[in-house]
Amino acid sequence: MTESTMNPALAAYRKVILAGDHWMHEIKKGQTFRILDLEGNQAADTLFYCSHDSSERYSASDTIQHQQNLYITTGTTLMSNLGHPMLMVTADTCGRHDTLGGACSRESNIMRYAFEKEPMHACRDIFISGLAQWGQGMGKRDITCNINFFMNVPVTSDGELTFADGISAPGRYVEMVAKQDILALISNCPQLNNPCNAYNPTPVEVFIWD
Ligand SMILES: [Zn+2]
Repeated sequence: MTESTMNPALAAYRKVILAGDHWMHEIKKGQTFRILDLEGNQAADTLFYCSHDSSERYSASDTIQHQQNLYITTGTTLMSNLGHPMLMVTADTCGRHDTLGGACSRESNIMRYAFEKEPMHACRDIFISGLAQWGQGMGKRDITCNINFFMNVPVTSDGELTFADGISAPGRYVEMVAKQDILALISNCPQLNNPCNAYNPTPVEVFIWD
């Protein structure tokens, strides 16, 4: 747990993202970016791209290999698929964030829950919608590994993934400093079938400081 000294009242930008909405925005090199879990145990599914060449983007495997740890928290450097630092986590009052579980999709709704859940909203579709609205020709092929901020997905001793109860709470946040110009895309998870958010997806708020 590492708290931040940044003052929300002095942020250059802030925006509430409702559950089920996407948010795409540039974060300039040197700026500080915070995601705030307003009501607790929400999952903010997030993709990061390099602003100047979106073929360079966040890589879970490079990040895990670089830090020799499966979970994201203070001190983690989020690495790109080309092995470059993208952002560094500088504060975290939640303590652990997942980058193994992937984003929910209509397909995973079927596999995890029931065939009838197929048409329900899912992060993968929200990412596609966000990329389409952003323009620049990005789309389905640009959805690679993501981070699930505030989501607790422990790996068991025999290597299984478990979607455990959340460890976040209202007002917890994670904060990072951009090491290059970044495009961030969040799908604020709309999932209604997962007990880890008490079947109740809620808003998050983002902040950017110069
Ligand atoms: Zn989701």
